Amino acid sequence: MVLDKLGDSLRGTLKKIANSMFVDEKLLNELVKDIQRALLQADVNVQLVFNLTKQIKDRALNEKEPTSISKKEHLIKIVYDELVKFLGESKAEIVIQKKKPFKIMMLGLFGSGKTTTIGKLANYYSKRGYKVAAIGLDVHRPAAPDQLEQICKQVKIPCFINKKEKNPLKIYKEFEKEYSKYNILLVDTAGRDALSKDLIEEIEMLNKEIKPDERLLIISADIGQAAERQAKQFHESCHVTGVIATKMDGTAKAGGALTACAATKAPIKFIGVGEKINDLESFNPEGFVSRLLGMGDLEALLEKARDAISEDDAQDLGKKFLKGDFNLLDLFEQMAAMKKMGPLNKIAEMVPGFSQLKLPKDMLQVQEGKLEKWKHAMGSMTKEELEDPELLDRARIERISKGSAVPGSEIRELIKQFKQSKKLVKMFKGKGDMKQMDKMMKKMGGMQSMMGNMKS
Ligand code: GDP
Ligand code: MG
Repeated sequence: MVLDKLGDSLRGTLKKIANSMFVDEKLLNELVKDIQRALLQADVNVQLVFNLTKQIKDRALNEKEPTSISKKEHLIKIVYDELVKFLGESKAEIVIQKKKPFKIMMLGLFGSGKTTTIGKLANYYSKRGYKVAAIGLDVHRPAAPDQLEQICKQVKIPCFINKKEKNPLKIYKEFEKEYSKYNILLVDTAGRDALSKDLIEEIEMLNKEIKPDERLLIISADIGQAAERQAKQFHESCHVTGVIATKMDGTAKAGGALTACAATKAPIKFIGVGEKINDLESFNPEGFVSRLLGMGDLEALLEKARDAISEDDAQDLGKKFLKGDFNLLDLFEQMAAMKKMGPLNKIAEMVPGFSQLKLPKDMLQVQEGKLEKWKHAMGSMTKEELEDPELLDRARIERISKGSAVPGSEIRELIKQFKQSKKLVKMFKGKGDMKQMDKMMKKMGGMQSMMGNMKS
C-alpha cells in the first residue's frame, strides 16, 4: 500500500490510544509526538505537522465527546478528522461535462508522468463508457509522439500526433475537426527538467488557445515538499484545477507531495501507483486516511472500546446489587467488571467511612482464569438455576460439571462467592448504611462505565 510506513506508525498510535487507561494530557502528548514523528518521516512540512498536531490536541482537550461515544473513540475520531482535513477535505472528482469534447490538459515537469497518466486516464474513462482520444503536443522530446502512440494503442484510443511539426498549436489546430467526435480529449504537453520561462510561456499560450476544462498538474510524489513550489507556479500560470500525484508506489515520502499540493488548494484527483495502465486510483481523502489508519483495524478498535460495559448497564447492576436481588449472571458481570477495576476493598477505600467496615479480604476479586471457567459452568446452567443459585444441589452441580468440564469444586466456589455477596449486601442493609451504599454503588457504576469506556 501507498505510504506503508506512515500507515504502520499511525496504526500503532491508534492502538496506543485503545490500550491506554485514560485519555489524559500524558497520552495526548505521547500521541502528538507519535503523529509528528510519523508525518515528518513521510516528509510532511514541519509547520503543517505542528499545525495539525496542535489542532488535534486543542480539540481533544476542549471538545466534549458526544454521549454516544467514549473519550477514546472521540480521540480516534479527532485524529481521523484532522488527517482528512489535512489532505483536502472532500472528494474532488472530475465532473465530465456533456460537451464534446471535454478537454483535459496535462501540466507538469519532464518525467513527472504526464504521458503515462494519459494512458491511465484513457483507460479509466473508456471503461466508464466515454469515447476518449489523445493529442500529443510535446514537440520537444524526440521520442514523445512515439511513446504516446504506443500507449494509446494499448488502451485502444485514437492518438493525434504529427512527428514533423514543431509548433504545438499548429498540431492542435490540424486535428480540430476530429475532436467533437469524442467525449474526452486528453492533451499531452511538454515538460522540461526545470521550471523554465519558455516552458511556462508555451503552456500559457496553449492554455489560452485550447481552453481546457480541466488543467491537471501531474506531480511525481518522490519530489516531496518541492511539490508545493511547482504546484504554485503552474497554478499561477494556468490555474490548475486538480493534481495527480504519480509514483506514489515508489516513495516513502509521499506525504510531502500530498500535503504540499493540498496546501495550495488544488485538490488531488487521482494518484498513480505504478507504471501500468491500471495503476490509477481516484483519490478521496476520507478513503485514503481510512486505509492509512487501517479502517478495518480502526473499526475493530472502536468496537472493542464499545464492547465494555455501558454506563446504563453499570447503573442497573448497581441498583440490583443495592436491592439484593441480583442473580448469578449479574454477579458474573459484576465480577468481570471488578476484575478490570481492582479489588472491592480498594474501591471501598475511596468512599469515606467505608474503610472501617473491614470487608473480607479480596472480596469479589477473582483469580485470573477463574472467570472463564465460571462462564463455562454458567453456560451449562438452566435459566432457573442462574436466577436462583439456591437450587444448585449436589446432583445439579454434578450435572453442570459434566456438561461444562468445570470441576465441581470450582462450581461450589462460584456459589460461595454468590452467597457471600448476598450476605455482604444484607450486612450493609442491616447497618442501615444505605446512603453510603448508594454512594459506593454510584461510585462503582461511575467507575465501571469509565473503565468500560476506557478499557479496550
Ligand atoms: P512525462 O515526461 O511527464 O510524460 O513522464 P512519463 O509519462 O514519460 O513518465 C516518466 C516515467 O515515470 C516513466 O518511466 C513511467 O513509467 C514512470 N511512471 C509514471 N507514473 C508512474 C507511477 O505512478 N508509478 C511508477 N512507479 N512509475 C511511474
Ligand atoms: Mg511525456
